Amino acid sequence: MSARIEIRTDICTGCGICISACPFGAISLVEGLAQVSDACTLCGACVEACPFRAIVLRGGGEGAGDLSSWSGVMIFAEQRDGKVDRSAFELLGAARMLAEAEGGPVSAALFTSSGAEGCSALFEHGADTVYLVESPALRHYSTEPSCRLLCRTIALAKPSMVLAAATTTGRDLMPRVARLINTGLTADCTGLEFDQERNALLQTRPAFGGNIMATIICERTRPQMATVRPGVMKAQAPEPGRTGTVERIEPLPGELDSRVVLREFVASTEGSVDISEAELIVSGGRGMKSPENFALLEELASLLGGSVGASRAAVDSGWMPYPHQVGQTGKTVQPKVYIACGISGAVQHRVGMQSSDTIYAINRDETAPIFSFCSQGFAADLFEVIPALIREIRRRKG
Ligand SMILES: Cc1cc2nc3c(=O)[nH]c(=O)nc-3n(C[C@H](O)[C@H](O)[C@H](O)COP(=O)(O)OP(=O)(O)OC[C@H]3O[C@@H](n4cnc5c(N)ncnc54)[C@H](O)[C@@H]3O)c2cc1C
Repeated sequence: MSARIEIRTDICTGCGICISACPFGAISLVEGLAQVSDACTLCGACVEACPFRAIVLRGGGEGAGDLSSWSGVMIFAEQRDGKVDRSAFELLGAARMLAEAEGGPVSAALFTSSGAEGCSALFEHGADTVYLVESPALRHYSTEPSCRLLCRTIALAKPSMVLAAATTTGRDLMPRVARLINTGLTADCTGLEFDQERNALLQTRPAFGGNIMATIICERTRPQMATVRPGVMKAQAPEPGRTGTVERIEPLPGELDSRVVLREFVASTEGSVDISEAELIVSGGRGMKSPENFALLEELASLLGGSVGASRAAVDSGWMPYPHQVGQTGKTVQPKVYIACGISGAVQHRVGMQSSDTIYAINRDETAPIFSFCSQGFAADLFEVIPALIREIRRRKG
């Protein structure tokens, strides 16, 4: 028997609690009794919300009903003031790769105060469809409206996979949505792959303090939801003029209401050190020996037009401030060039920089793990190599 929601009309009091509990707007009152429409995804939120146990989920036992009716990949596109965040383009890069393996479409959910520019950017980076909700109230992210809108958009599009960036926004939004629509979520993924045989998304993330990489699948419910650390996936080069379909969604009455009022947006002063945007990073680890020696890396970085990063060992020693930390508990970076100086290449550091285009490593221990994954390694004393490098660059620059 396929799954369905049954309203026990002998018990229902028409209190309406299920109407506000339903993330899909699928319940209304008809002649004083709850009635479920086709928009129902069998998520079960109403079953839990009903204080009288008048709503029952029958048969199937799977929150998503028929799994084969879900297909494609949807990304949640973060934006501020109408400008789509770079993380959305990275997610689209991953979404295209997954959708090709699965055979479904790629879509983006964009909730914004002004959508025109955002839609074109999303199409150019690989979206086939943009589900657009436009309202001045959506200028900045707000939890409750975004949560309701994403639940409804998912019910409408029925994507088999939903991805968001593992930013403060994504980490706030996705667990709520997953809970409301009764599906699984893997947070902070560092790898995504589609397994055609099992028709499942393989979601890889560090587990047990980063000591193992766990691959997680969501077998029985849809959509399969994941957050992905910014900087891990690669955005495709934009295809100018590429277009797609805009599906406008009008907010329902009360859907944009929020108990939180945003008074002012104040940009972080730490923003001056955003190594995740840098094209070249010179990074130092415990091998730098002291905070003063980081002046060498700063000199090299400034000559090359880059920024300075650090391993957690260097940050924990108080040699560099936390915003410079690269790795699992720091930032994920993907510069064109990453120069690791006196860094052993522990897995927790590696997950934060392994997507860099070219990785150079300077380490005096030729058995250091970093030599197993860098593009070019120098088994040498960094206090000889870096000053020599600085001298040579200065000489060439005249
Ligand atoms: C839950 C968890 C989260 C973590 N998150 C992070 C994270 O976000 N980022 C991170 O970096 N780490 C993280 N770590 C720590 C990680 O496991 C390593 O301990 C850390 O990356 C080591 O830093 P390091 O390579 O600088 O130091 P070490 O491992 O001590 O390596 C220092 C290297 O310097 C070399 N060296 C010494 N002197 C010289 C010299 N004169 N010339 C050349 N080479 C020299 C040595 O040969 C050595 O390989 C985390 C750990 C855990 C458990």
